[in-house]
Amino acid sequence: SDRVDLIVVANRLPFDLEPQPDGTTKARQAPGGLVTALEPILSHRHGAWIGWPGTADVELEATTTDDLVLHPLRLSAEEVDLYYEGFSNATLWPLYHDAVADSEYHREWWNAYERVNERFAERAAEVAAEGATVWVHDYQLQLVPQMLRRRRPDLRIGFFLHIPFPPAELFNRLPWRTQILAGLLGADLIGFQLPGGSRNFVRLARTLLGVPSNGGELQWEGRRIRAGAFPISIDSAAQSALAATPQVHAEARRLRSDLGNPRKIILGVDRLDYTKGIDIRLRAFGELLAEGDPAVQDTVLVQIATPSRERLQSYKAAREDIERTVGALNGDYGRIGRPAVHYLHQSLPRQELAAFYVAADVMAVTPLRDGMNLVAKEYVACRVDGGGVLLLSEFTGAARELKSALLVNPYDADGVKDALRTALTTSAVQARRRMRTLRRQVLTHDVDRWAAAFLSELEGTRDRLAEAR
Ligand code: UDP
Repeated sequence: SDRVDLIVVANRLPFDLEPQPDGTTKARQAPGGLVTALEPILSHRHGAWIGWPGTADVELEATTTDDLVLHPLRLSAEEVDLYYEGFSNATLWPLYHDAVADSEYHREWWNAYERVNERFAERAAEVAAEGATVWVHDYQLQLVPQMLRRRRPDLRIGFFLHIPFPPAELFNRLPWRTQILAGLLGADLIGFQLPGGSRNFVRLARTLLGVPSNGGELQWEGRRIRAGAFPISIDSAAQSALAATPQVHAEARRLRSDLGNPRKIILGVDRLDYTKGIDIRLRAFGELLAEGDPAVQDTVLVQIATPSRERLQSYKAAREDIERTVGALNGDYGRIGRPAVHYLHQSLPRQELAAFYVAADVMAVTPLRDGMNLVAKEYVACRVDGGGVLLLSEFTGAARELKSALLVNPYDADGVKDALRTALTTSAVQARRRMRTLRRQVLTHDVDRWAAAFLSELEGTRDRLAEAR
């Protein structure tokens, strides 16, 4: 049979579409962390990936690359508007990130979310072999586990949420809160980034649906469901090896010289998103400059802000605020040929990004809320030299593992300013001591370990091993 036994279901397929001159479309693999992690397991097990190819109204055939079958799911422009930009990114995203921006609640968005989730579930049901494992990803597809189970009770279904799962005080605002919980409860294993997210979920399932639970074990419709924390990571060895190449080293030196050989380089790398606290680090840097603090003498801040969700008003507003602030700082503190802030509203290839990580004396990661923040882990993996200072918001998932970073509360303007000053003036010995601990953590907890931990828990390998002993 051509039906497969491990299927990943995610909003996006792991490749980009390239329109060809002859009017056809070519698929080019985009090396995201998730694909890199899952690719070996998927190809080994004749796996498949179901997802939207990223362009509306495009109908594509299933294609096979490196033993992995890609199943593109067509979304209409209207579905992209309502299900993706609307319900996923303007209702769920802000609500799940501590409501740092206002969520909008529209019945048409919810209806589209249900319809599109149904289509993903339908496709997974068609593709999956008897008894196969299906791993559903993220906030766009929270109804898929239940919808899939109705069609195919024989499947093993896992769900992983890449973003935070909010406490009851926020989740309860959702007019469709019980439907979403029931959707998730269709899974056998529900994974979160942090134990806190898992606890929020278990508590909500108990209070809203009366689901009995014992720790991370729940009982629902005669099934045993597990919930737990599986903090995601990066391909640490590959990232580290990339940073160690002569090309990246040369590029890092060139960057420093292009920046005018400043005494210190502070770096920020984020999607341009209001959750990332880009404005916070700019203002902290600006205040130190305004005070003439010696720590920021001959220091530049480089901010790479990747374009993201540009059709949404909240993202336009965040961009305007950031760009106005960058302009004001350069107006006040720059000189001709020597801006204080170097700002790129661009997406950079991994190799170039690695050169920035290697060149940066201080990495500033200041989100108001972030499920994990892989950039923080990438910076650590790139510091093959053992140097560099990571300034990290305590409201990122990464902060739970990277305890030796300089942790800050991004809402505390003075605290961020103090931490930035500390980061810039910390001794090389101190910095190396912290970085050694950080590197040990990141290099031993990579994305392979994450995927293996989730899948072995889902497929009961651990239980079976325990019974065999
Ligand atoms: N990234 C990239 N090019 C850029 C900026 C970022 O490839 O110009 C990558 C970065 O290396 C990281 C990812 O985008 O792997 C961002 O992941 P993170 O968890 O930090 O934030 P998210 O965007 O998922 O909220």
